[in-house]
Amino acid sequence: MASRFQSALRFPTGRSYPALKPSKPHSGRILGQRRFSISPRWQIRTKEMNEDLLKSLKINQGRLMQDIHHTCQWGTGERWGDAPTETGMTRLALSDTDKEARDWFKSTTEALGCKTTVDSMGNIFAVRPGLRNDKPPTFVGSHLDTQPTGGRYDGILGVTAGVEMLKTLADNWIETEYPVGVVNWTNEEGARFPLSMVASGVWAGSIPQETAHNTREVYPGTATMLSELKRIGYLGETTASYESIPMAAHFELHIEQGPLLEMSNKKIGVVKGVQAYKWFTTTVKGRDTHTGTTDLKSRADALLVAAKMILHSHRLATANSALASTGILNLKPGSTNTVPGDVTFSLDIRAPQDSTVEKMKKLVVADFPKIAAGEDVLGSNDACTFGLPCSVSITEDFDSPATTFHPDCIDSVSKAANSVLGPNSHNLVMDMVSGAGHDSVYANKRCPTSMIFVPCREGVSHNPREFCKEEDCALGAQVLMQSVLRFDRMRDERRISWKQEPYTL
Ligand SMILES: [Zn+2]
Repeated sequence: MASRFQSALRFPTGRSYPALKPSKPHSGRILGQRRFSISPRWQIRTKEMNEDLLKSLKINQGRLMQDIHHTCQWGTGERWGDAPTETGMTRLALSDTDKEARDWFKSTTEALGCKTTVDSMGNIFAVRPGLRNDKPPTFVGSHLDTQPTGGRYDGILGVTAGVEMLKTLADNWIETEYPVGVVNWTNEEGARFPLSMVASGVWAGSIPQETAHNTREVYPGTATMLSELKRIGYLGETTASYESIPMAAHFELHIEQGPLLEMSNKKIGVVKGVQAYKWFTTTVKGRDTHTGTTDLKSRADALLVAAKMILHSHRLATANSALASTGILNLKPGSTNTVPGDVTFSLDIRAPQDSTVEKMKKLVVADFPKIAAGEDVLGSNDACTFGLPCSVSITEDFDSPATTFHPDCIDSVSKAANSVLGPNSHNLVMDMVSGAGHDSVYANKRCPTSMIFVPCREGVSHNPREFCKEEDCALGAQVLMQSVLRFDRMRDERRISWKQEPYTL
């Protein structure tokens, strides 16, 4: 018996576990609920895993990379290097190639003993039973769809790392206290159907399913999410909702998509939340006049005023540790020899705290009319000619409050990162706030959630050259698995209601 115990605990490194006593036989009631009834009784329960055991349990880096690149055969994009894997990805949501990646996810997880459920948004939930299957699973989630000119890691790493977790648990006969699952969320990117994170939004009850189903693909196509879900056979019968598929927690591994980890030589980002943002449209009205016959004093130059406003928003962002960006600028009439009298521009304001975004909004709303009227605001008129006033209107289009992830999930990730990275971890782990939205934002509305970031080359994503080193993919997957196991162990000691919004922290 002892020798079988030892061999069951042998890891890919060839090392054996430190001496651990086999579990005492469980009560008949619990045994009756065991899914893996053919497993020997001395398989490891997560509760029996001490720190050394958690640390010794390793995911398989080669196998993870193989899965990432295997799934990238469906929707391979632009080539940027000579190696077979040096291409981007073009796997738009609910396309034929997305269907193939979905089929792989479903069949792979089913072969690992998971039960899969497809919901009415095409989200695929794969669940590996635990000892107590009357309770919701702890999930790992991300997305298999990509941008039209995306890379091999955004979303794909999160899902394949979840699959690798399932494989590692199976290899080592780990039995979790509660079920664990992996979810592939539909259309996270919002690239083909222009509503990002839409399917986790429906699951969380934040976006009406009808709105999502009727969302039409971007021009020139005419398909809707509903028609494409039907066409590729992924319109499930289970209602997309946290009520039909509850989660005890949601962990997501993702590339950072920014340069902070790489710049500071860190390996793991413990993501504590997602920053707040608001979108505005500003319209400046002046007067169209001839550029040759109208002197500078007699102009109501709407574009010049808009330019001062955009520069001012940058100065305000600098002063308040926020971000301000203009990505859309329209001007009329659009003629070389006419001073534009009508300009609209977008303004995207972001900061980790809602209060900072609110402060920025107040400043913008107070200062833009002054700039339009010709007043000098923080040197906006330096070396300029005083012209005629313009009028301005500002509308708020979108508001996404800051997301704060759950302390228990953050704690699981933080402990896992420190365990995986060892004694030098304080130099390699960094607390972060995500600059971009993720499915975890919606998951967090209905269950405790947190994220793990790994560095990506030059912080570049949504680009074929997006790249994450193999060792960093593996470290992220290792931290992800250990976070799930740590959370699984602590579930009995905590009381969380996953159906409330907001749940109590
Ligand atoms: Zn993503």
